[in-house]
Amino acid sequence: MSGDLRTVAYDVLVVGAGGAGLRAAIEASAAGVSVGVVSKSLLGKAHTVMAEGGIAAALANVDDRDSWRVHFADTMRGGGYVNHPRMAELHAKEAPARVHELEAWGALFDRTPDGRILQRNFGGHRYPRLAHVGDRTGLEMIRTLQDHGVHAGISLHMEHTITALFRDGARIAGALAYDRERGRFTLLEAKAIVLATGGIGRAFSITSNSWEYTGDGLALAYEAGADLLDMEFVQFHPTGMVWPLSVRGILVTEGVRGEGGVLRNSEGKRFMFDQIPELYANQTAPDAEEGWRYCQGDKAARRPPELLTRDHVARCIMREIRAGRGSPHGGVFLDIAWIRERMQDSEAHIKRKLPSMYHQFKELAGIDITKEPMEVGPTTHYMMGGVRVEPETQMSTVPGLFAAGESAAGLHGANRLGGNSLSDLLVFGKRAGEYAARFARQSTPSKCDRAEVEAAERRALAPFDGATANGEGPYALQHELQTAMQDQVGIVRREDEMRSALETIDQLRARAELVRVYGNREYNPGWHTALDLRHSLTVSEAITRAAIERRESRGAQFREDYAEKDPVLGKVNIVVRKGADGRMVVARDPVPPMSDEQRTIIEEMK
Ligand SMILES: Cc1cc2nc3c(=O)[nH]c(=O)nc-3n(C[C@H](O)[C@H](O)[C@H](O)COP(=O)(O)OP(=O)(O)OC[C@H]3O[C@@H](n4cnc5c(N)ncnc54)[C@H](O)[C@@H]3O)c2cc1C
Repeated sequence: MSGDLRTVAYDVLVVGAGGAGLRAAIEASAAGVSVGVVSKSLLGKAHTVMAEGGIAAALANVDDRDSWRVHFADTMRGGGYVNHPRMAELHAKEAPARVHELEAWGALFDRTPDGRILQRNFGGHRYPRLAHVGDRTGLEMIRTLQDHGVHAGISLHMEHTITALFRDGARIAGALAYDRERGRFTLLEAKAIVLATGGIGRAFSITSNSWEYTGDGLALAYEAGADLLDMEFVQFHPTGMVWPLSVRGILVTEGVRGEGGVLRNSEGKRFMFDQIPELYANQTAPDAEEGWRYCQGDKAARRPPELLTRDHVARCIMREIRAGRGSPHGGVFLDIAWIRERMQDSEAHIKRKLPSMYHQFKELAGIDITKEPMEVGPTTHYMMGGVRVEPETQMSTVPGLFAAGESAAGLHGANRLGGNSLSDLLVFGKRAGEYAARFARQSTPSKCDRAEVEAAERRALAPFDGATANGEGPYALQHELQTAMQDQVGIVRREDEMRSALETIDQLRARAELVRVYGNREYNPGWHTALDLRHSLTVSEAITRAAIERRESRGAQFREDYAEKDPVLGKVNIVVRKGADGRMVVARDPVPPMSDEQRTIIEEMK
């Protein structure tokens, strides 16, 4: 079986070449250990490249009232207070230094008139806080990290997919990869592994996420014995494209609303003024006039309700659609063109501030956003849940296994604020790299059990075996899973529907074990999908079980059958792990307590 198995050993193996993976690899390499990076796609194609709006960091360049304390309080409030407070504190404190570092490495941010990094408004952030490069911030970030990383002596395995992790006793020992082009296996042995594999959006049918987001890192960690946390909290971004159908789900950045874009229903009403949550009442503009002044940088003005947190805006949009006040293609209207009433050069301004959005709608929908409103609706966007990690080091509950970026959990709690992901990648990517290197330096080499490796190879090749496979292809199963998750574990949830989804997932898992692919191992997308599907099934089950367990509505989780917050559940995180019998176990763990200083900040900022 392992006749053609190549073996490579590193001190630190990083799985993922997005912002988190590259930042971790740079840090580990700087610590003097050998580093390998594996990525499903080509370098430069990771999901981070798609990020648009910006990186949240309390630089206070545009509003000097901003500070790490305000950023911390905003993040906790947005997360429904089930975030890990220490992670939120580290993130708020360290993000400015990470942005400056990125600038020193060559990132060219938009500028204030006096030459500092420009910051823009985004939902849930009290002050303009997002450092950005037009609406192409992710591209600049990944370009900068790549340029820096390739000079740091990191070994790259592009277009390689990890299908299994191995342990040596309790600690992590290595990973099995197949190369997508030729279908050959490589065993990557490592003293420490950093998972930076991003999110899970492809488990749903409407999503802003790329093909890579099949939840691999989460499923691999779960199978290796690590805890998953907050899996019920899947973010549905309020504004994805809804038309034409072929582009449904593609993101429309929150930056549109940050620049003054407003949401209207089919009656032309700005419906976001109808329902302002208690927690945000004293921070929200009472009328359109004050909201516009906020978008123009008036420090005395409060933000318009379109810039409330994503969970709330998404639910308000759903309310309008369900009440029959939606747009012709099942969304609502997002209008930035209206600013011509306030601005002479509005057309040039929109094209300068939102070049990708202008291009996206022009090319894909034949709409000129400087002249007409867009049609938008919620889209599966981001995973707040993921691998449970220790805040300072990012180590999971498996010694030597680390996680960072979207694949890790804790920072965002029940709902992520826009811009807090790119800063998360930098802050915790750096920490993961640093502590993984430290762990590796203090460890003796670990060994992967050859029998386990061979079993993993056999399992990966099973879909080619005509004798055991039942002839069903992987795409139909993937489609069925996406439909079940979208319809029954989506933006509005109910216990009976989620229980039905669990039954579907169970049946699909049995069928996925027998799935059949044709052709050979060389660049075979059917085979790749068959393997990715297993990961998506694991994360889908974890999401559904955790969502059933949280019988309340908080942040991104909206339960029609438990529409209110439950103070008891507000004190717990839901944990998912593999039980001794191989079945998924769901448990409740207390939310880590806040320090006295953190509590004081929250009280002061209310
Ligand atoms: C359209 C869009 C716009 C966004 N805009 C913003 C924004 O403005 N600000 C913000 O803060 N956030 C934004 N986000 C969210 C943010 O971009 C992501 O959360 C973030 O980029 C994730 O980075 P990451 O490093 O964790 O993962 P990624 O960048 O997704 O990288 C994951 C890596 O893991 C690799 N990988 C996955 N599975 C495997 C496997 N089995 N084997 C080997 N390699 C594997 C992939 O190939 C890839 O290299 C946006 C998201 C989208 C979709």
